[in-house]
Amino acid sequence: MKTRANTNVIPGTLEQLTDIRGITADKVKDICQQLGVCNWRELTTAVTLEQLEGIPSLTPENRRNIRRALKLDKDADHRLQLWDAMIQGKEILHSIRQFPEVKRASFAGSLRRGKDTIGDIDIVVQVAGTDRKKLLYKIDRMPLTDRIIAAGKSRICILLHNQLLAYFYLTDQQHYGATLLYYTGSNRYNFSLESVAAQKGYRFEPDGLFDLKNNQYLSTENEEEVFRHLLLDYTPPELREGQELIPAANQHKLPSLVTFNQVRGDMQIHTSWSDGEESIARMAHYVFSVFPHYQYMVVTDHASRERTGHVLRPDDISRQAAEIKDINDAMGYDYVKRGVEVDILENGELSLPDDLLKTFDWVIASVHSHFTKDNTARLLKACDNPYVHCIGHPSGRLIGSRQPYPVDWDQVFAKAAATGTAMEINARPNRLDLNDTLVKQAIANGVKLVIDTDAHTLAQFDFMQLGIWVARRAGCCHADILNTFTWEEIEKFKHSGRNAIA
Ligand SMILES: [Zn+2]
Repeated sequence: MKTRANTNVIPGTLEQLTDIRGITADKVKDICQQLGVCNWRELTTAVTLEQLEGIPSLTPENRRNIRRALKLDKDADHRLQLWDAMIQGKEILHSIRQFPEVKRASFAGSLRRGKDTIGDIDIVVQVAGTDRKKLLYKIDRMPLTDRIIAAGKSRICILLHNQLLAYFYLTDQQHYGATLLYYTGSNRYNFSLESVAAQKGYRFEPDGLFDLKNNQYLSTENEEEVFRHLLLDYTPPELREGQELIPAANQHKLPSLVTFNQVRGDMQIHTSWSDGEESIARMAHYVFSVFPHYQYMVVTDHASRERTGHVLRPDDISRQAAEIKDINDAMGYDYVKRGVEVDILENGELSLPDDLLKTFDWVIASVHSHFTKDNTARLLKACDNPYVHCIGHPSGRLIGSRQPYPVDWDQVFAKAAATGTAMEINARPNRLDLNDTLVKQAIANGVKLVIDTDAHTLAQFDFMQLGIWVARRAGCCHADILNTFTWEEIEKFKHSGRNAIA
């Protein structure tokens, strides 16, 4: 056992351990003495190596709270899907913004960067130093709060009733920008910002941007000011995963990321003709009024010659077409497009024959079976079909419950680019398929993407934002996303590939 820590004195920075619920000064002394740790880095290493287990005065709850406060609670390997985290996070944000002490509050961490799953909720809060006690009192009494895990001058960690952890990073108006940037991360991105800052004579810290020339924090009321000091263009949170884009931010070459407002329509929707909940008319009127910037929507019920139950049968197709025509006639233009989602069968053939496929405005082909085998050949064959416009949820993953099936993506993306077949970013919270990494690879190969909600109910049209995040994290611009184009332009795309039907 090391004996570096003085038996009577707690090393300065580790005094903050007493901010953690149940951790007294005596227990901090035990930790310092018995583990021989003198600073946070050593403590973090010791906790990661599970050395807290050897300290008799710590209860299991004490150890868990320390791990929680240090964000090292590996028992909580359960990660929340982005959508659920967003709903939970908004509820917290909404609650704390009601407190008069809170001047500003924003999401930080992976939630702000739009990662597909979230470990915990990070929020940066602007609050005056004199109001921090009052804020803690109010946070403790929020209906969402189960209990406070740790509370210090600049940080509060709470456990929510659903066992999720939320961290509040407290700052003032002057340093809000740097603090928000710091806690938005990612860690890898922060490392590179730290070195850019060092080259310019600054230190980038959670408390602010520190000027080494005059030993003062610079005023950074917003993130833009920090970027300006570092001579970098503002980099959207979705692009802050690594260091790759630092040179681009320095040379004014960051991509102009696609935005939700650029979306012109939703291109995968299921109605009560197959497994959806609503009639076409109800969905059309809802989308038309709730998303006024959309110019079209594509109804894509499942269709199959073989399958029965919750699918469009071949003899339903003309009746559905007549219904859509009536709706469009009443609306005065062709707002509702006639699409279909067909199954890619095991041998790569489709669940409807070509003479039916060619009657639709938009054909999505998706794998709905055989999720474990290598599906490269099936996807290639589907892309080769001249009547297929898009591959639905191409990787087949279900977050938390199904791994993506093996696919040779180089081959599939090359084929998609050559045949003019779009790939979907399916925006359902448990799909987000393709994911950000594969989307990046797809656009590098010249493949166009379509962001679809795959809505089966009215509320699910809101998933579009999740798909936008995936696209932004992959660096997609308006030009990469087909459904940011007018329908006339989509018609041109349909006839652009090698498959173009004369
Ligand atoms: Zn599907």
